[in-house]
Amino acid sequence: MNAAPELSVVIPVYNERDNLPELVERCLAACRKIGRDFEIILVDDGSRDGSREIILQAADHYAEVIGVILNRNYGQHAAVFAGLEQSKGRIVVTLDADLQNPPEEIPRLVAEIDRGVDVVGTVRENRQDSLFRRMASSLVNQLVRQTTGVMMHDYGCMLRAYRRPVVEAMLQCRERSTFIPILANSFAGSTAEISVKHAPRKKGESKYSLFKLISLQFDLLTSMSTFPLRLLSFLGSLIALGGIGFGVLLLVLRFVYGSRWAGEGIFTLFAVLFIFIGAQFVGMGLLGEYIGRIYHDVRGRPRFFIQEISAKSVAAKKAGQNVNRSVSE
Ligand code: UDP
Ligand code: MG
Repeated sequence: MNAAPELSVVIPVYNERDNLPELVERCLAACRKIGRDFEIILVDDGSRDGSREIILQAADHYAEVIGVILNRNYGQHAAVFAGLEQSKGRIVVTLDADLQNPPEEIPRLVAEIDRGVDVVGTVRENRQDSLFRRMASSLVNQLVRQTTGVMMHDYGCMLRAYRRPVVEAMLQCRERSTFIPILANSFAGSTAEISVKHAPRKKGESKYSLFKLISLQFDLLTSMSTFPLRLLSFLGSLIALGGIGFGVLLLVLRFVYGSRWAGEGIFTLFAVLFIFIGAQFVGMGLLGEYIGRIYHDVRGRPRFFIQEISAKSVAAKKAGQNVNRSVSE
């Protein structure tokens, strides 16, 4: 097989014994259809149902399949990262192992990347999940859209394609809790979305319990912004302003209706209290601003990613030519 294939398909696997044989077959068939060099990277995320053995067998049997075995369960996104780290393709596609994302969609994703975009997201047509999952998902999507301003309709679907530079940029991020689709979008110059089919899970069960789902949503929220910290200042200002307004209103009404009306100053106490509560929140928000900055720095994400450096001398070096530098250069 070629050292650097065109296409890498990265699939995290956690206890998917019954889905694996069909998954491998369908992925191979779909990738062969594209007619380019490819590799399929199956990452075993500490399965305990024999998935690991099936992956090792498949890697042994097919030249295109690469098995990456993690020593324990680290979670879906960590597993995908492990796969991304091993991938070499110019285009990288990720998908789930449970066949909810049909591998037959891979050629369409690749075609979209060929059109020149950096990241291709997908929207699940007729999504086959429980009502609760769908509602939670739509809430999160809306939140992400509003806070990041990145327009994508479905962040939950992991059937996605990335161009190599975006993958490299993601790999430079050392933070532990990540949500890959959002991380990718923060490095994407251009994105596209296509709608794909979604199948119900035929075998095995969802690996996401309610608790894991909630923890994933927090990963998502904190990975995209420190906006929640800023919310404290905002809320504090609102409360303090409300308190001031209330105080002024009391003062005015007291002049109009006399001092007995104001309940002997009890309400004034409330107004003062609100102002102080608000001020406390603003103070916490200020602390939040610092913490947010510390958080950004600790994550050590690359600040930018250079796509290309263009200079005559560089081009000449690449081509192995000897160019006489002119004075005007
Ligand atoms: N997965 C994983 N590690 C985990 C949980 C899940 O690698 O700790 C994989 C799982 O094998 C599947 C994908 O992540 O390929 C999505 O999981 P699942 O289908 O359970 O999620 P859902 O479709 O319910 O969101
Ligand atoms: Mg699934």
